[in-house]
Amino acid sequence: MLDAVVIGGGAAGIAAARTLDAAGLSVAIVEARDRLGGRAHTILLDGAQVDEGAHWMHMAEVNPLVGLARRAGFTSRRAPEDRPLYDNGRLTTGARRRAMDRGWPKLDQAVARVARSGVDETLAASLPALGEWTETFAFGLGLYSGADIRELSAIDYARTADGTNRFLKDGYGALLARLARPLTVHLGRPATRLRSGEDRVVVETAAGDVEARWAIVTAPTGVLKGGAIRFDPELPADLVDAVAGFSPAAYEHAILRWPESPFHRNGADQLTLFRGDQATAAAMLACIGGGDLHYFELGGPHAKIWRNGDEAWKRAHVREVLSLHFGKESDAAEILHVTGWWSDPWSRGSWSVCAPGRYVARDALRHYSGGRLRFASEATSPDQWGTVGGAWREGARAARKIIAALRS
Ligand SMILES: Cc1cc2nc3c(=O)[nH]c(=O)nc-3n(C[C@H](O)[C@H](O)[C@H](O)COP(=O)(O)OP(=O)(O)OC[C@H]3O[C@@H](n4cnc5c(N)ncnc54)[C@H](O)[C@@H]3O)c2cc1C
Repeated sequence: MLDAVVIGGGAAGIAAARTLDAAGLSVAIVEARDRLGGRAHTILLDGAQVDEGAHWMHMAEVNPLVGLARRAGFTSRRAPEDRPLYDNGRLTTGARRRAMDRGWPKLDQAVARVARSGVDETLAASLPALGEWTETFAFGLGLYSGADIRELSAIDYARTADGTNRFLKDGYGALLARLARPLTVHLGRPATRLRSGEDRVVVETAAGDVEARWAIVTAPTGVLKGGAIRFDPELPADLVDAVAGFSPAAYEHAILRWPESPFHRNGADQLTLFRGDQATAAAMLACIGGGDLHYFELGGPHAKIWRNGDEAWKRAHVREVLSLHFGKESDAAEILHVTGWWSDPWSRGSWSVCAPGRYVARDALRHYSGGRLRFASEATSPDQWGTVGGAWREGARAARKIIAALRS
């Protein structure tokens, strides 16, 4: 029997397994997909390593993956902080741009006020008057949070920490896969049931059971909510209620090759917003690493438009939006790949968000200490939810709890 089994081989699962392994304990990861990394996955496109999920190393100051990447020989670069805005295909500059930029500090102050008050409301309700820029800010916040700000907890949003960001040349997903190399991993084995007893947990999979003294569950909250994993005995009602308190965030990419794009003149790695309405606003992480690849990005309600669309429909939508903003010039953009994290059965959303009053779900899942199960994922991070770095720290935290229990 193993000391511990980890359900899920994304950032949280890999961090948990590495921490247990480094403490000299026997551990294995049981992973549903035939690959590791979860929502951080690097693919080869046009000869380049490109992330189809997480790409930004957020909060570089405290993100343990920055140091791990350096030690593993991965090259990273700092992400620019400017956010160019295109309005009707034209770069917004001068006084108009300065007027828009004045909105960000106002917004930060308003959100901080809600956090201090302790009375939760929707992020939309906490927005200050931003005049003609209100829609643009709503789009930006939807992009960052992956949620409709009319449904998002302002306190949960306010608790997220801010810092500088970095990009990895060879991909965030590739880094996670590298860091998992020394671990014992069972790929292509979805856990269907977890049976907890007095001294062990049995993880049932179609290819056989895995037994361990402890289990760390890192499957996404959407997967837990969907009932893909049964718990025996059933989880307590308050924990089931906490899991129900999470909603899936929507964030999707299309990856483009666009050698002559208008963004080349703005420099590399610029997160560029296109002003528009629900159907036409979008963002572009342009000229990745100074090259010809670009991420067309949708977040929150704008990404939910993709929920029911097939690949052809998504491609047509990207074309339509680009053409509205950039006319014939956008014909040269070649769509190499579109994502579908929302409907992916092992993700069920891009990360987890909470409605007003429900942000306590993060702590409830994080501090659950019943039986031999622990939970860790991006969702349990109070201040870095929705990030790889947050998930990594949570996985390591849950593992340390188990190490302490085994040694006590
Ligand atoms: C398009 C997109 C862009 C993003 N951009 C960024 C970004 O730039 N920066 C950033 O920091 N974060 C970003 N994120 C969020 C980030 O990817 C996640 O927060 C993070 O990867 C979550 O890690 P995790 O370990 O909690 O979950 P996951 O990575 O989802 O790992 C969970 C694992 O559990 C497995 N699993 C599920 N069910 C079962 C089962 N029944 N049995 C066994 N295994 C199971 C899954 O296959 C998966 O491998 C982005 C996400 C998306 C989708």
